[in-house]
Amino acid sequence: MKKTPLIYHRVYDIPLPDKHRFPGSKYSVLMKILESEGLIKSFLKYTPKPATAAQLSIVHDQNYLQAIQSGTLSKQHQTKIGLPWNEILRKRSFVAANGTLLAAQLALQTGIACHAAGGTHHAHSDFGAGFCIFNDLAYASRALIELKLAKKVLIFDCDVHQGDGTARILAKDKNIFTCSIHCAENYPTKKAKSDLDIPVPRGSGDEQYLALLIQCLSIIDRTNFIPDLVIYDAAVDVHAGDKLGLLEMTSDGIEARDRFVLSHFKKRQIPIATTMGGGYGETSEEVAYRHRIIFKVVESIF
Ligand SMILES: [Zn+2]
Repeated sequence: MKKTPLIYHRVYDIPLPDKHRFPGSKYSVLMKILESEGLIKSFLKYTPKPATAAQLSIVHDQNYLQAIQSGTLSKQHQTKIGLPWNEILRKRSFVAANGTLLAAQLALQTGIACHAAGGTHHAHSDFGAGFCIFNDLAYASRALIELKLAKKVLIFDCDVHQGDGTARILAKDKNIFTCSIHCAENYPTKKAKSDLDIPVPRGSGDEQYLALLIQCLSIIDRTNFIPDLVIYDAAVDVHAGDKLGLLEMTSDGIEARDRFVLSHFKKRQIPIATTMGGGYGETSEEVAYRHRIIFKVVESIF
């Protein structure tokens, strides 16, 4: 049986005070769910190595990298990120960036690979925001092109929040197409300009969302942009039960979305690297259970 690469590192969990909005243990809880359900048997685990500051400098400002590396980020910048600073957060940020790059490299070889983290799309070149420190999506796509592993990359971002950092970092990269499908009324209030933005009205359910998704994929089809790889942000904060979402999708709707996206690119023989993106609930368990959907869909399609 062909196994799908699954990229994970035990440093991914973020230590947070009780009642913090970010479900810090969702990464290890997800692994436990995949193991207890037996889904893990369809995957082969890979452990990424931390990216160096020099590697990340292809998308991030030197002073920002230096501040993260030395733990000297200003209080104001820390507040914008929204996560309390600690050594594990520093370490996991460097590892997770390379996790998405590793997923992308493996997907080019096998057709599909899944990163059990990533999708930190609010990180800008010189500052972090919205629980995002480094922009793994921008970093992985630019690195692939610099390494001459791909000529064109599509970032397909289905997080409920706009991928503003990705859009701004890659605004001038003609070989990377940024697409964001997000709730128009949600964070960030000041939107960036992706190559393709599909705003979804607040309160949309499965039917309305999936109709817009289909429209979005057909718009991309009609461009001349044929990517060598798709990096898919399969975030679950579109769920009706999400605390930061403002949409009304069901778990079945998210499963249909993931199935639609993966089948669409598989049919065109375009490799896909998946990332997890956002998801916010009362507990890490609740959110991890929603993140499990993309792994279930991958298992059934590939
Ligand atoms: Zn989000």
